[in-house]
Amino acid sequence: MSVRLHDTLSGETRPLDPIEPGHVRMYSCGPTVYGPAHIGNFRSFLFADLLVRYLRYRGLRVTWVMNLTDIDDKIIRGAAAEGIPTGELTDRFAARFVEDADALGMVPPDSLPRATEHIPQIAELVQTLLDRRHAYRTDDGSVFFRIASWPAYGRLARLDPEAMRVGERVEADEYGKDDVRDFVLWKGPKPGEPSWDSVVGPGRPGWHIECSAMSMAQLGESFDIHTGGVDLVFPHHEDEIAQSEAATGKPFVRTWLHCAHLRMGGEKMAKSTGNIARVADLVAAGVSPRALRYALISVHYRAPLNYTDESLQAASAAVERIDALLTTLAAYREDGPDDPTLPERLERLRTGFEAGLDEDLNVSAALGALFDGVRDLNRRVDARSLSTADAQHANAAIRALDAVLGVAGPADAVLDPDLEALVDARAAARAARDWAESDRLRDVLLARGVAVEDTRDGQRWRLVVTSGG
Ligand SMILES: [Zn+2]
Repeated sequence: MSVRLHDTLSGETRPLDPIEPGHVRMYSCGPTVYGPAHIGNFRSFLFADLLVRYLRYRGLRVTWVMNLTDIDDKIIRGAAAEGIPTGELTDRFAARFVEDADALGMVPPDSLPRATEHIPQIAELVQTLLDRRHAYRTDDGSVFFRIASWPAYGRLARLDPEAMRVGERVEADEYGKDDVRDFVLWKGPKPGEPSWDSVVGPGRPGWHIECSAMSMAQLGESFDIHTGGVDLVFPHHEDEIAQSEAATGKPFVRTWLHCAHLRMGGEKMAKSTGNIARVADLVAAGVSPRALRYALISVHYRAPLNYTDESLQAASAAVERIDALLTTLAAYREDGPDDPTLPERLERLRTGFEAGLDEDLNVSAALGALFDGVRDLNRRVDARSLSTADAQHANAAIRALDAVLGVAGPADAVLDPDLEALVDARAAARAARDWAESDRLRDVLLARGVAVEDTRDGQRWRLVVTSGG
């Protein structure tokens, strides 16, 4: 067991060494549920999903927590614009997030805690920081973290402590701070805003403190892995470290992992430029979710991902190659002897795949090994050098690796009865040597998303993977 990961805080790539042997506790900063998440957000969530899947594949127990931020300024503004309670808005977009995540094959996190369901834990943490003099109150009932009380501040983001002039963007509700760098832990009540009673008085939590409170409540004061997009390094994660360690006196997180940006056509995807793509819109435009998933996970998480129509087409073609081999192997029948070289070939495929992912989740190397194996197996299928049992072993070997990738079509896929009837009708037309009718039915099926092929093992079908357009 030798998974190595690149920790942002130390700058080192180190073996994963869970605090509790065999059990990895992991927290991912999740979406703010005020609108649909875009595929840039999902790149980061699917990177965490790939990591969880791989650690489980490697035999580790993983407890994975992802928060839903369900109270903040954008949510309050969005709900006010629609004239509805904030909870109605956030319920809608939390449900939308789960739908999008399901469509993309994301393993459901063990827990999806919401900030508004953890007000007591958040307020307790704020109170602890007040008690330990790392925080102070202002006249409006807000509480701020005192950065001057925490000399380690800035280590994660590698800020120069002397020249540090962070947080200069002073918001109107943050007047009254002792130091412009200090960040808000608790926002005092304001007319027209949701407010909760708590041990630190009425108000609502700041954003950073919710992640510290919920991660420690669910995973303990120290845990193994914390993930997020690279844009969260500063200030969000810097602030999480400061407030968590100042409150507990213990190291907060062993390994910090940050996913690089997704770019669209070379530009950073951002709402402000309208340069944005959402999962449901892409699926409605004919993009297969499995192709989209492949496009989002197939670039190493620390490298920028340039999302283009071409990258989506390449993703769709890659998934089809895997599907085509799996359906071929499932249908393959050959009475000849076993291929004596196959066990070693499958072993090489597996170890190559694992060696890639072991090294800081290098998915490009893992996919390289996988497609070498796909090419090799296709050659053996064409040469009919495998036995029926060989084909079954190879099929199981590829399926085992796909448990990590999550891109292949299901082994037990079934067609709607009307499509199945068309597939049967085409087989009957071929049996009757009615080639015109069999070609016509093949086109009808293709237009409805089912590709049929004729092989020595008979007609077989698979679902088409599309990239839209
Ligand atoms: Zn967070």
